[in-house]
Amino acid sequence: MLVGGQIRFSWSSYNGKSMREYLFVTASTTFRCKRCAKCCSLDVMLSDGEMDALGEAADRKWRTTVKKVKGSRLACCLLGGRSCTIYEARPKLCRVYPFMAAPVSEFVELGVPISVDAKRASAGGGEEYVVMYDELCPGVGEDGDGGEDMMAEVIFLTRAHLQEMRLRR
Ligand code: SF4
Ligand code: SF4
Repeated sequence: MLVGGQIRFSWSSYNGKSMREYLFVTASTTFRCKRCAKCCSLDVMLSDGEMDALGEAADRKWRTTVKKVKGSRLACCLLGGRSCTIYEARPKLCRVYPFMAAPVSEFVELGVPISVDAKRASAGGGEEYVVMYDELCPGVGEDGDGGEDMMAEVIFLTRAHLQEMRLRR
């Protein structure tokens, strides 16, 4: 679906329970976390190493953080107020949220078009990536980071996460 010059597509969560929509990051995309903690109610997929590090805070059946009722919603058991109690050691997908990177080659393989204004970044070895963001995050569009450093960090952490997930297959 074409929305505001960008292509919107759905992205299934790990257990198929929900659909999330991501939009391509462009040169005008900015982000500043508003510390609303909404993302701490989402499923965060964990690698084996992250599950070991989190111990009882990891749900091994669903490979996510354990959630508990907090106020009127379910949220990660590691959330204290609106802050992550393991902030410096939080899982990779928590670090990259609301962003997610994917190789351009996967879009080509799947026949999914990439918006003409989507930013692309090299990941070395001739591999090119695009970065997307979850449109539900209220921090997107706020004045803040949107530069090359952010793209590079998201690509680095997403690749590391995917590599760890592949290793366990
Ligand atoms: S949902 Fe977005 S703005 Fe809110 S805490 Fe998470 S990353 Fe920050
Ligand atoms: S580990 Fe921290 S950042 Fe990640 S979902 Fe839990 S509380 Fe939020």
